[in-house]
Amino acid sequence: MDFKELANKYQTPLYVYDFDYMAAQYDELKSAFKGRKSIIAYAVKANSNLSVVKHFADMGSGADCVSIGEVRRAFLAGVPSYKIIFSGVGKSDDEIREAIEKDILYINVESEAELGRVELIAKELGKVSRISIRVNPNIDPKTHPYISTGLHDNKFGVDLNSAKRMYIKANNSEHLDPVGIHFHIGSQLTELEPIRESAEIVADLVRSLEGINIELKFFDIGGGLGIRYDNEITIKPYDYVQAILGTLTALDLTILCEPGRFLTANAGYFISKVLYEKQNGEKKFVVIDGAMNDLLRPSLYNAYHKIDVITDSKEEPRAVDIVGPVCESGDFFAKNYPLPPLNHNDLVIVNSAGAYGFGMGSNYNTRGRSAEVALESGEDRLIRKRETFEDLIALEQEFLKA
Ligand SMILES: *Cc1c(COP(=O)(O)O)cnc(C)c1O
Repeated sequence: MDFKELANKYQTPLYVYDFDYMAAQYDELKSAFKGRKSIIAYAVKANSNLSVVKHFADMGSGADCVSIGEVRRAFLAGVPSYKIIFSGVGKSDDEIREAIEKDILYINVESEAELGRVELIAKELGKVSRISIRVNPNIDPKTHPYISTGLHDNKFGVDLNSAKRMYIKANNSEHLDPVGIHFHIGSQLTELEPIRESAEIVADLVRSLEGINIELKFFDIGGGLGIRYDNEITIKPYDYVQAILGTLTALDLTILCEPGRFLTANAGYFISKVLYEKQNGEKKFVVIDGAMNDLLRPSLYNAYHKIDVITDSKEEPRAVDIVGPVCESGDFFAKNYPLPPLNHNDLVIVNSAGAYGFGMGSNYNTRGRSAEVALESGEDRLIRKRETFEDLIALEQEFLKA
């Protein structure tokens, strides 16, 4: 990958995504499900660029959405309605209404109160809403606390007893059609056992529902497959699928899977230029033109990203903090990272930036968001323009008093 040429052509900071890598990840996971009815529903929030969503849609992927905005993106990108699902703890009435009108595969309901809203809105529309219930299996996924979702301490899903009550209520309703069951215990999962245990708990609930003649069609195992940022040992898709299938004996369900990070993270590179080096006492800093408003993960979760540099410098590496221009001490990409002395305009490449990168970006410090570029079959193409100052003030300017 010629990062230098891309930086010259599109300027920095810049996101670059390897579409061929994304396709290979999709294929690997899809083939692990071979012989089983399955739908891979790409978790749009990981990287919601329309061209990325379309790339997966073209390969047959569905979409897992957590806002109506993401549902609209999925439709625009060509994902068929029958492969779109809508999750999240806080859906507004308007969002629920639009999801029912658009006739998506199902709404993933996350509380008894929400089930009541969905029923009421479906009734107002004179429709039947397909639903799935997100079960919180109370299993520790052994990941970062901010991205753990499957414990009762987390706001997601409902406990087993509530779930059962909700299925009975939905099954008795003229306006609800319970078709699926869902769990998603966290993100960046690198251990299989918590996933298997969760699947077992949820599969047992499916069997107990069958006992009272509530027959579900979809077993939704969420996303969360971890990737390698550093030297993590990750779960192999084949082992993942086998572990899930092991819990589904005698159940004939279509498996839904909602990977985000697994499909896009290691396809992405965030390219930035060195502005300055500086030293405060003993502490050395490299200041680059990218910042926490472009890539928040290090600031938010203290996340590790491998960093490469493109430089003529042949000197020995020393420990430096790689920081951006934003006025926050939390604005860093790495701390005490070994890099050689760098020159103005050398390139700093942040790896594994294809998931939860651009999408978590903001305009903090009135910084326009980066451009995004796709690489596919040896060709590069722009998939989002760099934001300009005019873009940033567009929604405010008319209110400026003379
Ligand atoms: C975020 C999320 C995913 C995707 O998680 P990854 O770790 O990126 O695979 C899947 N399902 C739901 C409900 C989510 O909230």
